[in-house]
Amino acid sequence: MSSPIGHSLSGWVIASYRSRSLKPVNIKNLQRLALYIFIANAPDLDFIPGALMGTPNLYHHGISHSLGTGLIFALVLALILTWKDKALFGREFVFMFVIFSSHLVLDLLSVDGRPPMGIPLFWPLSNQYFMIPILPPVMHSVLDHATIIQFLADVFSLHNLYVVGLEILLTVPFIFMIHFIIKQRTVETDNQKG
Ligand SMILES: [Zn+2]
Repeated sequence: MSSPIGHSLSGWVIASYRSRSLKPVNIKNLQRLALYIFIANAPDLDFIPGALMGTPNLYHHGISHSLGTGLIFALVLALILTWKDKALFGREFVFMFVIFSSHLVLDLLSVDGRPPMGIPLFWPLSNQYFMIPILPPVMHSVLDHATIIQFLADVFSLHNLYVVGLEILLTVPFIFMIHFIIKQRTVETDNQKG
């Protein structure tokens, strides 16, 4: 898996493509950006049921890390959020599904030291786990029944600090680049109108 910071930044990169529709910066648009960042992290809510039982890893990398869950999640959320303006449904659904999928891509590309390695990407069509181990993992113990203390000891490790630094280096330049391109396009459009 990647860290919540890595998932949030990748969600922000994707949300930046829509920054024109997120402007001007106001509370409503900041709430929308917060929602997109939440969606980018949503698959990792699967830590919660295990954590409530004292073993956070127990249900991690289950069916919440699949395209099937992403489709259902995006469908339900888009239906709720666009019930007043149904014309926006299709665009919002696709956008939310893409952000949810960004989490799956990052986890798919991360080394996973805990069997079954990877994520059940194509659930419910297949229960097979997939992994393309390119990115360094965020450590949170390799034990299914790791206690919260064992879990946190790994989470707050120097290794994870290195991974977060790497995630920032790999994503923040894209956020600046996308904002710069959109700003340039806005100026060009305004000049054409003027
Ligand atoms: Zn995850």
